[in-house]
This record gives sequence, structure tokens and C-alpha cells, in this order.
Amino acid sequence: MPIDKTPEENAILFVWFNHYAGVLIKTPSKTIIVDPVDIRARSFPDADAILITHEHYDHLDPRLIAEIQKATGCTIIADPASAQRLQHSIAPDKLQQIRPCDEIKVGEVSVKAEKCNHPATAPVSYIITSEDGVKVFHTADSLPFPELADIGEREKFDVVFCTVGIAPGTSPETGFEIARLTKPQVAVPYHTNSTEYQQKFAELLKAELPRTACLIPELNKIYQVSKRK
Ligand SMILES: [Zn+2]
Repeated sequence: MPIDKTPEENAILFVWFNHYAGVLIKTPSKTIIVDPVDIRARSFPDADAILITHEHYDHLDPRLIAEIQKATGCTIIADPASAQRLQHSIAPDKLQQIRPCDEIKVGEVSVKAEKCNHPATAPVSYIITSEDGVKVFHTADSLPFPELADIGEREKFDVVFCTVGIAPGTSPETGFEIARLTKPQVAVPYHTNSTEYQQKFAELLKAELPRTACLIPELNKIYQVSKRK
């Protein structure tokens, strides 16, 4: 499932590759993978960075990460609990711990951590800004929290990934609330194996947030999103 195409200027490509928060993001210069599990290492021959949001089994697979890292030489960026679990398999110069408000550059692409409202040890969400300024908010398994409104106001997101199921307490309604607070150009319902939940999210969005487009992703399909005009 590597993406052979390069995005157009002022755009990114993304692929959702498992029923959880597994997302590949391709900017014109970099390939970034978030929370790879349930997939083969050879799916990511051109990874520049792997981002890990928290230590739960559906987000962190240390063996897979070590395999991808060895094949590509990519950098691993992880929340503190995941970084601790990776420290014996990843060389120290390739493993960077991140906490909310920290920013790490992957070439000209910015990776910034924010809070994540999920019952894990020290979970983070990620704001990924491409070299063209396309803004992606990967909210991991987060439930809504009030600061999302300020973050959305400040960042003016192009794409926000919203968990609609599986994780504790999450539903199409909590996913919609994340979209309502962050007001992106495009909202993507993920972390589910229910198309019904994704449809419900789409209905809520259409009724209450008509200026945000809903993109219901299919697994392993490539989507392009362009910067907000
Ligand atoms: Zn999860």
C-alpha cells in the first residue's frame, strides 16, 4: 500500500490502513505513518517518520516498528510510555519522545503534540503541518475536551481525524463533537469497523456543521486533501 504518487502542490495524500488510528500521510517531501499495527512492514518502504500516540495494543506494535525502522532508517516519535517500551529495540538517535506542546521537525514538515483525552499513560494527539502549510490533526483515540476549540481556532485545520468507536466512551456523537470544536475543512471518521457509525457521524456533520465536509474513508484507499483557500 505504499503511495507511489506525490501530492499536488498545497495538498497531502492520506491512507487509513487499519480499523484503528493507522494513517499514512504523504506530503510533497515526506511520508509519515501514525500508529502502525495490523499491517506488514513492507507496506512502508519510504517511511521518513513513525508517530505513536499511546501504548495500547491497537496503536503500538514494537516489533513492527523495529522492522520498519531497520528497513527505512526512519525516525520514531512517541509519547513517553511508548518511547519507554521502544528504547531497547530502537537506537537512541532514532527515537524521540514527545509531550503535549513539543514540536519536532521532520525535514520541513512540522510534528506537534497536543493533549489527548483517552485513558492511557501519557497519550498525545498530533498536528502535522506539511511544508506547504496543509494542516492535519490526528486526534488518536481522543474524546472531546474543551481546549480543542482554541486549538482549532489557532490552527485552522484542513483535516481532522475523529474517533467514532471501539475506544472507551467513543461514539459517532463524541467524534462529531471533536469536529464541532475544531471546525476543519474536512472531517474524517475513523477508529471503527462500523460503516453505520461513520454514516451517523456524516449525518450529524451535515445537519449541524454544514461548512465542514465529511470524508468517509475506505481502508487502504488514497485520498488527497488540498489546503483551505
Ligand atoms: Zn485505539
